[in-house]
Amino acid sequence: MKWSQALIPTLKESPAEAEIASHKLLLRAGLIRKLAGGLYTFMPLGLRVLRKVERIIREEMDRAGALEVLMPALQPPEIWQQSGRYETAQDVFYKVRDRAKKEWILGPTHEEVITTLVAGELSSYRQLPKSFYQVQTKFRDEIRPRFGLMRAKEFIMKDAYSFDSSDEASQVSYQKMYDAYTRIFQRCGLQAFPVEADTGVMGGKFSHEFMVPAETGENEVVYCEACNYAANIEKATSRHMMHSDLGETEQAIEKFATPGAGKIEALAKEPFNVPAHRQIKTLVYMVEDKPVLILMRGDHKLNESKLTGTLGTATFRAATGEEIVESLKTRPGSLGAVGVKDIPIYADETLRETKQMTTGANEDGFHIRNVSVSRDIEVKQWADLRLAQVGEECSKCGQPLKIRRAIEVGHVFKLGTKYSIAMNALFLDEAGNRQPAVMGCYGIGVTRTMQAIIEQLNDKDGIIWPLSVAPYQVCITPLNVASGAPTLSVAEKFYSELNAAGVESILDDRDERPGVKFKDSELVGFPIRINVGEKSLANGEVEIKVRGGEMILVKVEEAVEKVREIVREKLANLAG
Ligand code: ATP
Ligand code: MG
Repeated sequence: MKWSQALIPTLKESPAEAEIASHKLLLRAGLIRKLAGGLYTFMPLGLRVLRKVERIIREEMDRAGALEVLMPALQPPEIWQQSGRYETAQDVFYKVRDRAKKEWILGPTHEEVITTLVAGELSSYRQLPKSFYQVQTKFRDEIRPRFGLMRAKEFIMKDAYSFDSSDEASQVSYQKMYDAYTRIFQRCGLQAFPVEADTGVMGGKFSHEFMVPAETGENEVVYCEACNYAANIEKATSRHMMHSDLGETEQAIEKFATPGAGKIEALAKEPFNVPAHRQIKTLVYMVEDKPVLILMRGDHKLNESKLTGTLGTATFRAATGEEIVESLKTRPGSLGAVGVKDIPIYADETLRETKQMTTGANEDGFHIRNVSVSRDIEVKQWADLRLAQVGEECSKCGQPLKIRRAIEVGHVFKLGTKYSIAMNALFLDEAGNRQPAVMGCYGIGVTRTMQAIIEQLNDKDGIIWPLSVAPYQVCITPLNVASGAPTLSVAEKFYSELNAAGVESILDDRDERPGVKFKDSELVGFPIRINVGEKSLANGEVEIKVRGGEMILVKVEEAVEKVREIVREKLANLAG
């Protein structure tokens, strides 16, 4: 490609709407343009990167034995009703109506479509295992589309689905995908690591997310440097830490006046001096419009993802002031569960053995002390409901946990038989019995991955593309492009030789100052640049500049071979 014939609309300034480095660089390098919030056009160079990421994904999916298909983006709502997700997935649906006013759904994901397909096509254990994948546009009505391609309304996902005849076989399919993901991110030059992930109400067995560490990431990962434990905070556990100062003796409960002390912190101070870990935090939640009480130790926080798992539904919210008064006949500030009979009570595991705890008396300005939780409160269900915190002990090895932010680029999920039962994806086993196929599903945000690469690999001058996904591998920059100038003819020779050798090159034949050309090529992030200037050419030499690395002088006749060598070496490093 010749730069003068391309469309690479670089920008000096970042548009005000872009908050994070990768979003700014995507726009400044002219790789994408916004149509509306969460909707982007891939410009010619941006599309080249996207296609390269897709190619790596396809190669690894094929290697893992998955079969490529292409399913419709437009889906009938009936299949969502059949799977039971029509109501729960409402929030993300884009719905359209046809001329007969019938409703259709723009697919946010494809479990329902693939399982319907498999129900019709596969019927015997002999045909299993089978995995399918596609690279396709997904539509999600995100509450807050932002950060460019990171959270878009329309984006490209690689989604894959495995079908097996047993749980053990399904585990093998899962592991194949997990390994393929590790290779994909490595080949893209991206440092991504797997973490244990929450399965929520999907009804899945277990799952991992592939995370790219980044300050701007929307996820929090809890990890342990000593034993490599890592989990999304939604799922993370820490060792059940008994406080050294938890009441030891059983005593009779006692009501006492606490005027003005309606908060944990207030009760912890003079004149009451009840430390937070000796208090019970009573939270009122509405689950499908009915109140429930959630009890946590005063120094712990509720993890709503764990609550979802415990309740078996994500349809809950904190109660309003009025709802609290209606359920406990008192205002927030002295809420408690002692003596409560008609409201279901869920309590965090760490409270089970506690004695001499203090909690609200359900009477303004009063609390109760000496509460032995198991003795005095009718708990419906004990569960791990606690948000893991920095410094707590790792549940595997006991070392202190850390937390960092990260971007989720991929997700592998063991689904079990939820969808195959709902959609009738049955097969005949060896004994001739009908069984539901055991499924897994596996997603990669292709467009998000492309942006995550930029978020991880950039400097003050611009993007530093890994060679495997760069829009062009080499940028050839003649400093003087007047027709007949030796710099131009040497540059053109490199251009045709490199392209002939399969090294994708762009010739910066624009009549611009060298400074402008250098800035643009660093901004767009071509991995290798050859500067062809009059001075060095007079010595029979040209400069090879590696993006984010060294500059070397080489003889003109050795330049092409040297570039090919650098390309080979860089690709070999990425192949792993
Ligand atoms: P998130 O928690 O970020 O909303 P998710 O868990 O809902 O994502 P999945 O259903 O697991 O997403 O989809 C698979 C992959 O698709 C994700 O790992 C992510 O890389 C990508 N993805 C999901 N939502 C978006 C989006 N709105 N824009 C771009 N990529 C997305
Ligand atoms: Mg996910």
